[in-house]
Amino acid sequence: MSSIQKAFKVILIPTHNQEILINKTIGCVRYVYNRFLALKKELYASEGKTLNYNACSQHLTILKKEIEWLKEVDKFALQNSLKNLETAYKNFFADLKKVKGKKGVGFPKFKKKHGCKQSYKTNLTNGNIQIIENRLKLPKLGWVRFHKSQDITGKLVNVTITRTSRGKYIASILCETEIEKYPQVTENIGLDLGLKSYLTTSNGETVDNPKYYRTQKRKLRKAHKKLSRSVKGSSNRVKAKIKLARIYERITNLRDDFLHKLSTRLIKENSIICIEDLRVSNMVKNHKLALSISDASWSKFVTMLEYKALWHNRIVQKVGTFYPSSQTCNCCVFINPLVKDLKLREWTCPICNNYNLRDANASLNILSEGLRILTAAVGAPDAIYACGELVSPGFFQAEIVETGITRL
Ligand SMILES: [Zn+2]
Repeated sequence: MSSIQKAFKVILIPTHNQEILINKTIGCVRYVYNRFLALKKELYASEGKTLNYNACSQHLTILKKEIEWLKEVDKFALQNSLKNLETAYKNFFADLKKVKGKKGVGFPKFKKKHGCKQSYKTNLTNGNIQIIENRLKLPKLGWVRFHKSQDITGKLVNVTITRTSRGKYIASILCETEIEKYPQVTENIGLDLGLKSYLTTSNGETVDNPKYYRTQKRKLRKAHKKLSRSVKGSSNRVKAKIKLARIYERITNLRDDFLHKLSTRLIKENSIICIEDLRVSNMVKNHKLALSISDASWSKFVTMLEYKALWHNRIVQKVGTFYPSSQTCNCCVFINPLVKDLKLREWTCPICNNYNLRDANASLNILSEGLRILTAAVGAPDAIYACGELVSPGFFQAEIVETGITRL
């Protein structure tokens, strides 16, 4: 058993008054964020001073005495808004140090009333949040009914309320819960993420790319057309917007479901999973490939693999972007420069005559390179434990050496 944090998403059914209060809270959260962002900018420009979270929090207490309506809403939501602002600043500066000159997360921006995510987060203190059957108790709102589609188990941590573009209200309930770990296995696997197929494994399995955007393309185009032709402010425009949002939501749901099933299976069946460290954000800039890549949503997939690996004592090992996984012959390690051409799907090695299928060969190389990196890290226990509590070093070492010899 291990303890994990899991978010349960439910659709809320607020009363009219609760709906008003949720919207008010979202508005106040945005107001606090923007007001303090402006204040921080101003102070920095005029006096070169920075305002940290604690200072902002003190200011907020004063502000609440001046502005009546800020007191009407959940106080945790407002505090979390300040925390988000602090995080946005931290991310900006951390990113600045990491990649000089490259476009990163960017300086915190003012939140708009429309377009960006409309939500607020509240925290659990002294039983202010509770769940009984299909009712969720939230600060200021009281008991809100919700559609019960799954059992919510574990210890409550916090709740995020979101208003979707379709005008629905979703509560994401974060709980600390116990999960039963999958039994230990000894198989290791290399994955080559591709466009032609979603991925190819070192076992020779190919998983097809479901391409949800492409299949829904006609519907999307139709909905986009309808929206652009509708008159601003008309009820038809609202309808068109909802219709479009619904298609996007469906695509996301289908894709997430696919990614969850695939990542769960790979984690269940394998002990070490080696993947290429794709700089997806850089690749998306290539427009021709952009649709396919964002459709494939690799980064989401890799994130899923990583957190599920932590839950179940598995290892996800990334292999550097510059490692020539496609060009190397997995049999004799000869690097064939001709394979740089993406169109070359299969080739015979001029040195050892091994016949290589592009993606399968790459996944075998990714596996051996990933295991090589891990083997090198055995000497430094910190590196092995870097991603949490993993397999015991003894087991780990024996496993690597054994597989390493056969593969390298
Ligand atoms: Zn060869």
